[in-house]
Amino acid sequence: MGWFSLINGNFKPSDNYLKSHNLEDYEQDDVENEDYDVEEDDDAMNMTRTCDKCGKSFTLADAIMEYDSFADGTSYMENYAGEICGECAIDELEDAWREADQYQ
Ligand SMILES: [Zn+2]
Repeated sequence: MGWFSLINGNFKPSDNYLKSHNLEDYEQDDVENEDYDVEEDDDAMNMTRTCDKCGKSFTLADAIMEYDSFADGTSYMENYAGEICGECAIDELEDAWREADQYQ
């Protein structure tokens, strides 16, 4: 499953990736495409992003690595896709776990 990341406010692959790859049925404003693998998109993975929550700079590569190694089974790309940094995503997951515990 190919999840696009947030680039300049839109969920999409990087322009460089689109130049060199032909995505089947890709249209502007699609948010996913089965032919797309964000980990093969060097520009999307390595561009500096600003976290919507804490304002820190981060890269998708770091966020995916941090979150996915912590969050056993849930995926950073499925949930955030470049909107917030790995640390904030992990905070949100821990909050959700705490809340789930309270209602058991
Ligand atoms: Zn953050």
